[in-house]
Amino acid sequence: MNHLDKLEAQSVHILREAYREFKSICMLWSIGKDSTVLLWLARKAFFGHVPIPLVHVDTHFKIPEMIQYRDDLAFKWKLTMIYGENSKAILEKNTFPDGKIDRISCCKALKSEALKNTLSGEWDRYIMDLTTGKYIPDINRDRYTGVIVGVRADEEGSRSKERYFSPRDKENDWDVGDQPPEFWNQYKTDFAPGTHVRIHPLLDWTELNIWEYIERENIPITSLYFDRGSGKRYRSLGCYPCTTPVESTATNVSEIIEELKSGKFANIAERSGRAQDKDDGGGLETLRRDGYM
Ligand code: SF4
Repeated sequence: MNHLDKLEAQSVHILREAYREFKSICMLWSIGKDSTVLLWLARKAFFGHVPIPLVHVDTHFKIPEMIQYRDDLAFKWKLTMIYGENSKAILEKNTFPDGKIDRISCCKALKSEALKNTLSGEWDRYIMDLTTGKYIPDINRDRYTGVIVGVRADEEGSRSKERYFSPRDKENDWDVGDQPPEFWNQYKTDFAPGTHVRIHPLLDWTELNIWEYIERENIPITSLYFDRGSGKRYRSLGCYPCTTPVESTATNVSEIIEELKSGKFANIAERSGRAQDKDDGGGLETLRRDGYM
């Protein structure tokens, strides 16, 4: 087994464990490279079929190509595709891009609050009708108790403190100092009622591993990651008012791998183009303790 085979085997094991342990489970799909690799691994774990709903929190400020890519792939792969949103904040234009609030408050409203209420079923959810490709109200209001997320420990500081199976309380809050130990592939999956558990099958993958795996498996990803003539490309995807591309002439996956191996980004954080990280003091811990992905 090479290093990618080992990472794949571990992630598939965690995905199957999670599916076995949680009655109401979903997988967050941010549309970026990591959660798309996770989706690919889920297809492998369950022999081409994904028996877990994909959930996306739509801020209405995502780069439009991201949403197009999400819907094209969901339709093609016949995924159970669900999205939720903070429609009140969006309708009232109570957002950072509308000039009403700061970035941290906006991320809390459009991401953390929307995620919390989408997962609990308290706010409306919309599900793709796989005959038309359009979204319709989701009649299922069950609370998701197992939530699979594509975060990696090397991505930024707060994520390195996660467990593979990491509990969040009723309010979606994360008590970093009180997490169960995980020895010898044994995971704690039963918690107090109301708790939900975040499951992190990609915790041990690096940015380079992700790109090597995308190349090996020929996983379709959005072209926003490639230079399309401007000498820039996105290294991390997010809302367009808060995400800037990096200087790079990489036009395909193998050029990105070469670029990463060259050490060009060795001292530049992967999420350096994400303005909300800077506004949260250079990390994301404040936001992530409150439920941010
Ligand atoms: S990334 Fe920017 S636009 Fe998106 S939720 Fe955060 S502050 Fe709002």
